[in-house]
Amino acid sequence: TNNYSLIDNPNADNLAEHFPLCMQHLYQNLCEKHHLKHFARIQFNLFLKGIGLTVEEALAFWRKSFSEIDEAKFLKDYAYNIRHNYGLEGKRQDYKPLNCMSIISSYRPNSGEIHGCPFREFSQSNLSAKLVQMGVRDEEHIKEILNLTEGEHYQIACTKYFEITRGLSDKNNDNVIIGTIEHPNEYLNASVSNEKN
Ligand code: SF4
Repeated sequence: TNNYSLIDNPNADNLAEHFPLCMQHLYQNLCEKHHLKHFARIQFNLFLKGIGLTVEEALAFWRKSFSEIDEAKFLKDYAYNIRHNYGLEGKRQDYKPLNCMSIISSYRPNSGEIHGCPFREFSQSNLSAKLVQMGVRDEEHIKEILNLTEGEHYQIACTKYFEITRGLSDKNNDNVIIGTIEHPNEYLNASVSNEKN
């Protein structure tokens, strides 16, 4: 099953360890600033939906996360969009969690926005610092990932990052363990099942 509750689960931080870098980045910012801007909310909310959160669970999660916002403002400015992602408002379209292609190409962040794919959006120095922060210490590994992003191979860079951070990296075999990551929820599922093995 891939149906988790981030809200009632005392191990929520453990689940976050399985998030791809794009979602890690949003989740860290949300935990620190108790807020995310519009497209970051959509990207993360649809990811939560992909994990299996019901709309009630998603609303409770956001309510708790936006702890500095009062109830009236939350209901007025945020609850509608969360429900909208679940197809309960407006056109009632049941939106799918965004795949990597959409995140990389269709909804690029403007300055001051933090959504999107870090492998595309971060400067080389920021990405390098982020990789170190996430536990990638080997210079060769960092260089390998930076080279891939420079060549615009963002999803392959993400796949490499997955393999390296899980000790699956084999320099003689490219992406032997999993195919190229196509979707953040696929990344999460691959990470969870890798831990179980
Ligand atoms: Fe997220 Fe996909 Fe970018 Fe990986 S390649 S960080 S899963 S958008």
